[in-house]
Amino acid sequence: MEVGGLKSSCEGGRSLAHCRLVDVASASNFHSFKLRHFHLDLHLNFAVKRITGWQVLELTPVQPGVQSLILDTHPSLLVHSVDCKVPGASGAPDVVLSLTYRIEPFTDYGSSLNISLPAAVIRPHRAFRVTIRYTTTDGPAIWWLDAELTCGQTRPLVFTQGHSVCNRSFFPCFDTPAVKSTYSATVRVPEGVTVLMSASRSAYSKQDRVFQFSMEYPVPAYLVALVAGDLQHADIGPRSRVWAEPCILTCAVSKLGGNVERWLNVAEGLFGPYVWGRYDIVFLPPSFPIVAMENPCLTFIISSILESQEFLLIDVIHEIAHGWFGNAVTNATWEEMWLSEGLATYAQRRITTEAYGDAFTCLETVFRLDALHRQMRLLGDNNPVSKLQAKFEPGVNPSSLMNLFTYEKGFCFVSYLSQLCGDIERFDSFLRAYIEKFRFSSVIAQDLLDFFLGFFPELKESCVAQREGLEFERWLNGCGPPLCEPDLSAGKALTGPVQHLCDLWGMDAPEPQVISTFDLSSWSTFQTVLFLDRLLDRSPLPQGIKNPFLPLYEDLCGGVMKCFAVEVFYQTQARLHPNLRRTLQQILFQSSAFNTSTAPSLLTSPPSAPSSPTDPTANGTIALRDVNVSA
Ligand SMILES: [Zn+2]
Repeated sequence: MEVGGLKSSCEGGRSLAHCRLVDVASASNFHSFKLRHFHLDLHLNFAVKRITGWQVLELTPVQPGVQSLILDTHPSLLVHSVDCKVPGASGAPDVVLSLTYRIEPFTDYGSSLNISLPAAVIRPHRAFRVTIRYTTTDGPAIWWLDAELTCGQTRPLVFTQGHSVCNRSFFPCFDTPAVKSTYSATVRVPEGVTVLMSASRSAYSKQDRVFQFSMEYPVPAYLVALVAGDLQHADIGPRSRVWAEPCILTCAVSKLGGNVERWLNVAEGLFGPYVWGRYDIVFLPPSFPIVAMENPCLTFIISSILESQEFLLIDVIHEIAHGWFGNAVTNATWEEMWLSEGLATYAQRRITTEAYGDAFTCLETVFRLDALHRQMRLLGDNNPVSKLQAKFEPGVNPSSLMNLFTYEKGFCFVSYLSQLCGDIERFDSFLRAYIEKFRFSSVIAQDLLDFFLGFFPELKESCVAQREGLEFERWLNGCGPPLCEPDLSAGKALTGPVQHLCDLWGMDAPEPQVISTFDLSSWSTFQTVLFLDRLLDRSPLPQGIKNPFLPLYEDLCGGVMKCFAVEVFYQTQARLHPNLRRTLQQILFQSSAFNTSTAPSLLTSPPSAPSSPTDPTANGTIALRDVNVSA
């Protein structure tokens, strides 16, 4: 990566690099417009699993000669009509025009909506409004859960999941993280249904059964999120509230206690003010396809995480960290997702270091880096998915390339930057300044690195003096493991006993008497998980050890336990989300008859969550355990 170098400016003061920014995952012509705001007016129909309504986009052309508006959309979204409203000149009434449009194929994860704009009324830098009436059903963004799939099992629930490129099936949009705008929404639902959105303000009219939302801060399309169902709330802090189905609300509140405000305070001490106003959390049924999603103002999290205090803590802190890294400052393309995930993981660990100490943070890091090394072994040293700056071929779904490298190699690179500056607190102040400078915008790696070298001019000087002194280019574009990893020896007190027990089990003739002297009751969840992972790394294990530790369908299917796996599947399938059901059917029956292309499967719809189901090869050669390890 070139260091420093002056860049010329183009439209809106953006750097040249931004103006030439190509997002191969978007069919839209987002460069041609400024999107100021959009509004959604939606009616949710649970009986037929359908959302009907309209969307109003407020746009200003920023290039001359714009003749069409191209938005990302999806075959599951049916457009009924498109209108355009242009303000009349000097006091004349607004002009409303019906516009022609066509849908064109794009990739297997979306299509494009190409709207012709009348030349007579579309002028550069003059705002106009486009209204799109549409219906959307069961696209990849929208997850309708029958009552049996919820915790309470009494009412249906629906939620949306936009990351990375799914929201084009929720509403037509510039579905690229390079574009941010404010939004508002009006949502009409049946009686007894509560609606929440990733918005900074909300209101409810009981009489009309209408919810109103407004997000006052600009966000990319993938961070627009909605959940509707039988949800109740309890306040857990001055700016935080827990939402959940009634049957798990008490548990969720007691597990979180007053911690959320404490974590927010620690994060603010490190990285500056939390800019989103509220930080609420909604717990979703176990069929939520991912662990957690950093939707601004309203983290979505899976309710089964309540089983583990430590995973709950880490995942909520990770989502809080996204309030700064990922949400306030966003990667401009999905090819540089590490700018969100690597920085959020670094920030999460700075927060846990302040709140829970070095040893705890190092233990958590050790077990995630173990998972990274495991993925490395599976993929080989030269696999391009291990690059921080991935190159997407057209047609490749960005979600399918989300992997542990995004999180953990990204984390190691950020740690390397902090080591370069030589003082962790000075690096905190750099991150504060970075947020201040780029808040509510989208960045590329060069923005971060230029700002870094501007903040630490002594590094820039030594870099210029040595030319190849800094290794940014190798970090960003090299395959393979991180060039270096942070020192984790502060975790020894917690990881030492784990390794000792692993060594005892790994002996040719394990000695049960010695092993039985270990007191595991004092171990934390992360110690236990690290132990099990490291034990599994020694596979094949003696049969006597293996079976009790591997309750996974894939492992069961590989041995004499397949009948048991099939039986468990038949007993529980009604409670599984259809997408998970399909994945398990494939594992159990090795059949390609089940269609996984119409909706995201467990393996192919990864989240921006610390614990991500990822399938970098998307061909099923990687075991579930290896792709589900958390980052
Ligand atoms: Zn994340």
